[in-house]
Amino acid sequence: MRILLTGAAGFLGSHLCDRLLAEGHEIIGMDNFITGSPDNIAHLAGNEKFQFIKRDVSNYIFVPGKVDAILHFASPASPNPQSKSGYFNLPIQTMKAGALGTHNCLGIARREGSRFILASTSEIYGDPEIHPQAETYPGNVDPVGERAVYDEAKRFAESLTMAYHRFHGVNTGIVRIFNTYGPRMDLEDGRALPNLLKQALLGQPLTVYGNGSQTRSFCYVDDLVDGIVKLMYSGEHMPVNIGNPVEMTILEFAEAINRISGNKGGIAYMENARSARDPQRRQPDIARAKTILGWEPQVGLEEGVRRTIPFFKQKLGLA
Ligand code: UDP
Repeated sequence: MRILLTGAAGFLGSHLCDRLLAEGHEIIGMDNFITGSPDNIAHLAGNEKFQFIKRDVSNYIFVPGKVDAILHFASPASPNPQSKSGYFNLPIQTMKAGALGTHNCLGIARREGSRFILASTSEIYGDPEIHPQAETYPGNVDPVGERAVYDEAKRFAESLTMAYHRFHGVNTGIVRIFNTYGPRMDLEDGRALPNLLKQALLGQPLTVYGNGSQTRSFCYVDDLVDGIVKLMYSGEHMPVNIGNPVEMTILEFAEAINRISGNKGGIAYMENARSARDPQRRQPDIARAKTILGWEPQVGLEEGVRRTIPFFKQKLGLA
């Protein structure tokens, strides 16, 4: 297939490039580098099946030739208010990538008859009142809340995707991505794994926000990519959660990172700078992914963190 992948230089986008190229597909990667990094795709230079276009997907995009599939993965995604690449500091770009970017991609999909996959997010569930979150749960999002620029952009993107499917018959799919980690994460984006693993490798105490009782479920990137590729090959139109259902508190997560990395720095509790909108619990219900795609994660936390450490050591100059 000839595949347009937006956000190709991002954490997930670059792993998708590798996987899809390995499967023999041709990739047109698009990115404007506001959060992605050229380093993530530098190894693809010279690959004749990989073409790169530096462009903001929120502006009009033209891709010559046939396009069999479009994966729309371009968006800021970090909720850290301190991170310059997080959506707090890129609020308009975040809304435009979700709204105008999705519209532009759907326009190409309609013209070309492409399979279109929207990278959506567990954030569309907001601070969930039910647990675990199944795709039928409509979410608990404040449209003017601090995270709204991301949450509502992705919610709008899902609605627009379904409108193109129902009204124009476009072959669309929606993946709701839960917390994911692995090599090529931005060490400075302020999310839990980059912050804590970086601190652990530097021998520092791990910063746990609040009392650390908030939960997340962390998926290793190769598992996530596998689920996305299966969704692309399927003809499923309704949203599918992809994530690891093993839920843990952030304190347990930090302790696991200290144990796996051998860090003796302990834990440093900090005031939660993300305010009351930090979701308290998050765990995917992956029953649909299991049934429809035959997918479930294979890599446990210990193995995933071990596979991630060499990249972090190299970025930190410790390798
Ligand atoms: N967190 C933490 N210490 C950090 C970074 C994050 O305790 O140094 C917490 C954060 O408050 C949140 C959870 O870890 O409850 C996951 O945060 P992340 O930024 O990875 O993404 P989110 O799941 O909130 O989108």
